[in-house]
Amino acid sequence: MTMGTAPIILWFRRDLRLHDHPALVAACDSGRPVIPVFIHDETVEAMGAAPKWRLGLGLARFAKALEGQGSRLILRRGRARDVLEALIAETGAEAVYWTRYYDRAARARDSEIKASLKERGLEAQSYPGHLLFEPWEVETGTGGPYRVYSPYWRAVKDRGVDAPLKRPDAIPAPSDWPASEALEDWAMGAAMRRGAEIVARHVHVGEEVALGRLGAFVQHKIGAYKEERDFPAVDACSGLSENLTYGEISPRVIWHAGWRQMQDGARGAEHFLKELVWREFAWHLLYHFPEMDRANWREEWDAFGWRGDNDQAEAWRRGLTGEPFVDAAMREMYVTGTMHNRARMIAASYLTKHLLTDWRVGLAWFADCLIDWDPASNAMGWQWVAGSGPDAAPYFRIFNPAGQAEKFDTDGTYRKRFIAEGNRHAPDTARAYFEAVPRSWRLAPSQAYPKPVVDLAQGRARALDAYEARKAAD
Ligand code: FAD
Repeated sequence: MTMGTAPIILWFRRDLRLHDHPALVAACDSGRPVIPVFIHDETVEAMGAAPKWRLGLGLARFAKALEGQGSRLILRRGRARDVLEALIAETGAEAVYWTRYYDRAARARDSEIKASLKERGLEAQSYPGHLLFEPWEVETGTGGPYRVYSPYWRAVKDRGVDAPLKRPDAIPAPSDWPASEALEDWAMGAAMRRGAEIVARHVHVGEEVALGRLGAFVQHKIGAYKEERDFPAVDACSGLSENLTYGEISPRVIWHAGWRQMQDGARGAEHFLKELVWREFAWHLLYHFPEMDRANWREEWDAFGWRGDNDQAEAWRRGLTGEPFVDAAMREMYVTGTMHNRARMIAASYLTKHLLTDWRVGLAWFADCLIDWDPASNAMGWQWVAGSGPDAAPYFRIFNPAGQAEKFDTDGTYRKRFIAEGNRHAPDTARAYFEAVPRSWRLAPSQAYPKPVVDLAQGRARALDAYEARKAAD
């Protein structure tokens, strides 16, 4: 085949959409046949139970969307480089295009693949699409990366975000399709067990649904977003993190929707854009500090007396600490696959401070349970709460979960929504927790609610003592 007609392999990863997709547009504009591919490689293998299951749902939906355009999604399992080599040999493709992803594993894999394809005289092109700004595009006055959010926000807010691209009218198909594996054979939900059935009631899969969600948010909720976003019982947020994670919606589309609202004077719109930029900032940090998801960002925290995994952390994971706001948060994650942002902060603070447990124990559990798991935002969130992160809250500012409940869940609606013990009229969401957790835990809504695993005042004092000891060792 000549360059003019040889197919392009379009390698999809966390960009499962047709709208605003620079790599897809470039492939279609080339006039060459396009072979969309998804590879179940070791990075997929390494995913936690809930995000892997949710990715499987996204792939099924996206394959249908491609079929609607006369195309297909070819599924292959194996090391990405080997799979691409095999596909190139089978199809005569002379180019591979993909959307960039910026965690450590993806960057190492992608640069190796790019170099090896280029060495063989093949075209290897990576494109933006996951973020508003490429992580290296935003620099401080002195040329380095940002470490603090507020100046980062000031640097990007008026920078201008390119207009989103339209979805292509058609995706040119090859005359022969390479074979595809069957998604069912990948058993993406294997590790979810009972939870899949429960969480399935709460997922919002695919780009049409995501765009609809954005539209509804902008129309009905953005005005009150700033005032209401901190109250976990109120449906005040967009829920779009689930879709952003798999690339089912483009951040540029969200940005422009928010920006238009801001121009029109909608209250809350600027605050919403600021939150979206927290996601950018998280990726900016992870790109420049690739160890952020496994090492204390501030080295002095290596000397801190974190406890490793322990029985109280297990009670935390199970939603059985006896601290109602914390348990409601952890149970929300079992039942819905997500957790409200305020609840994430409180649950994370309780684990790292009252239970004095290493933030990486919590980070790993969130990575296993969140359908919106995002390596950058998760790592930034945990290090921020733990006090070890670049722009972190000071460790000695310890959230009191009972006080937080008073303030942000005054009438107890959120806690009632997820805690059934002692409540004969508990809603389905509270009962669903007992269906989602393993039978071996032998839990029932009729049982008594657990006693606190730690006294809040004692937990706080222990955390502050550990902090003083670390400071003394500095
Ligand atoms: P909205 O309030 O509607 O905000 C719009 C978008 O802005 C979100 O979809 C998200 O992309 C971004 N955003 C909002 N808040 C944050 C934030 N604090 N940090 C980064 N981006 C933000 N978010 C994830 O997407 N995946 C994670 O794995 C994740 N883990 C977290 C762990 C901890 C300990 C903490 C404290 C926060 C974590 N977050 C994570 C951030 C935040 O909780 C979620 O992004 C938010 O709850 C998503 O809900 P939403 O889409 O309704 O947000």
